[in-house]
Amino acid sequence: MKFADLHLHTHFSDGTFSPEELTGHAQRLGFTALALTDHDSVEGCARMAAACHAAGIELITGTELTAEYNDIELHILGYFLDPQNQKLLTELARFQSVRQDRIREMVSRLNQLNVPLEVESVFALANCKSPGRPHVARALVKAGLVKNLDEAFERFLKKNRPAWVPKAKMSALEGVELIHQAGGLAVMAHPGLNRTDEIIPALVEAGLDGIECFHTKHSVALAERYLEVAKKFGLLVTGGSDCHGFSKGKPLIGTVKLPYEYVEKLKSKVESRKSIAGTAATPALDAHLSTLDP
Ligand code: AMP
Ligand code: ZN
Ligand code: FE
Ligand code: FE
Repeated sequence: MKFADLHLHTHFSDGTFSPEELTGHAQRLGFTALALTDHDSVEGCARMAAACHAAGIELITGTELTAEYNDIELHILGYFLDPQNQKLLTELARFQSVRQDRIREMVSRLNQLNVPLEVESVFALANCKSPGRPHVARALVKAGLVKNLDEAFERFLKKNRPAWVPKAKMSALEGVELIHQAGGLAVMAHPGLNRTDEIIPALVEAGLDGIECFHTKHSVALAERYLEVAKKFGLLVTGGSDCHGFSKGKPLIGTVKLPYEYVEKLKSKVESRKSIAGTAATPALDAHLSTLDP
């Protein structure tokens, strides 16, 4: 049986694995297809594509956008998008810069609390365009300023703790549009973690393509609940482990094995959208438009 993991992070966001390490684990576990979904980034896609190609694994390019709707944070997965798409890269760069400024602000608050963390140590450790709180936490541990990641979050970084800084996020509706204009499918990530089901109809209205029913932190009951939601709204079904390597304890890759038939359904939607876009630009229409253009 063929199976896929469509939710994976590398060190191009807050995972600890390189694309090559992640691919190596996937190969040992027998995966046919993977999607790379680093937070607000497509930086790792090229290396992941090369590693997967060498391992004979199909790669779906992707990202996981941090978004909000009515002040509620939610994550939107983008699949099959063009990692060279200019608008996508411009918008991601904007939110990556927001993330970098937020790191500076968190470190400055830590310094005010007499925690002598150096911002450059966080950036050096993160070594990517899309740093986040886990990198601050790891830098605190590395500098011997806290015992472990839990202490870093509990004392300083959790929401409403003294070094927590809110993050500017893109609107969820804009996120869906951003993914679409880059040729991708937009999927609501781990709805069971956010428990914000009331926003699903608005996302569907905005063109949401799918919903992540299978996720490491979804119980069987939650997966079934979101399979029903998918059926009700005509959404595609996805699933993945949300593996971050060793960043949150044990690597999660292998905990979700999505049957490949779900990947085929995603692929046929992308293909049919491409062929519709293709027919809109028929030579006949182009010729007609060119006659209108002086
Ligand atoms: P950020 O995007 O910078 O706000 O960071 C979010 C990341 O921090 C996510 O990957 C979370 O899983 C992780 N995170 C949030 N709270 C905690 C916590 N209490 N302990 C460990 N990791 C956490
Ligand atoms: Zn993460
Ligand atoms: Fe997420
Ligand atoms: Fe994730």
